[in-house]
Amino acid sequence: MFDDLKGKRVLITGSSQGIGLAVARAFAAHGAKVGLNGRHAPEGLDTLLQTLRATGEAEFFAADLATTAQCERLVAEFVRRFGGIDVLVNNAGALVGRKQLPDIDDAFYEAVCDVNMRSALMCTKFALPHLRASAQASGETAAVISTSSIAGHLGGGPGAGLYGAAKAWLNAENKNWVSYHTQDRIRFNIVSPGVVDTAFHADKGPEVRAAIAQEIPMGRFATADEMAPAYLFFASHACSGYITGQILDVNGGQYMH
Ligand code: NAP
Repeated sequence: MFDDLKGKRVLITGSSQGIGLAVARAFAAHGAKVGLNGRHAPEGLDTLLQTLRATGEAEFFAADLATTAQCERLVAEFVRRFGGIDVLVNNAGALVGRKQLPDIDDAFYEAVCDVNMRSALMCTKFALPHLRASAQASGETAAVISTSSIAGHLGGGPGAGLYGAAKAWLNAENKNWVSYHTQDRIRFNIVSPGVVDTAFHADKGPEVRAAIAQEIPMGRFATADEMAPAYLFFASHACSGYITGQILDVNGGQYMH
């Protein structure tokens, strides 16, 4: 079904674990050339790369995407290694912490905005010429896929208002990219997960997790692997060549428009 992903050069930010890593595994399984990223190399990196290289190509690039300079360096290093970019996945993001309004200071504001907003904005900016070149050369569309969140629709849980707002910003920014860069033959879509069982929820005990699961019609957290097909779909020109500016909610029915 995703045959056209074979050989595609796919840069996935924040992919040393969790959703990003599951997405990287799925792309590599379809023969793509995958760039992994995180601030730190994950444990067992050599084994991980070996596994991914059994079906595709893979490289890890350490970069802290909370800074513009490292977004630029990541894109440059990926392009040096693979010769261009066909698909960018803006997945790096974090809650950073939970702070209610009275406790939010400049440092917290900047930390949340930098990792969730600056990372996507600047990686997309630096990838843009390469995505444009990819589309021109292939005659197909290039793709930017960004990871938002159910919090972008609902405003975020306790102490997560800034995080929810950053994801809502991403949803809006994506529309602007569609308006002004569709002529470059680049499609911009969003995957918006609900509650996914990753390190993101490491601070929650069994009782809190059970209470959250009860609020989800599916009755459970999603696995990271259950997110991956949505990214493959948006990356594949054959599957979604006329789809842009959309938000695909993968949330077990927890939020419905
Ligand atoms: P995760 O398991 O904590 O993974 C986060 C990934 O991002 C890691 O690879 C991490 O690597 C990387 N990262 C964090 N800060 C970074 C930075 N400054 N620069 C570069 N990489 C950075 O979280 P996840 O659940 O997979 O989340 C992935 C995305 O899904 C995020 O955008 C998150 O907001 C979104 N999301 C998650 C859920 C959920 O329930 N899990 C729900 C909705 C949306 P390092 O630590 O090495 O930097």
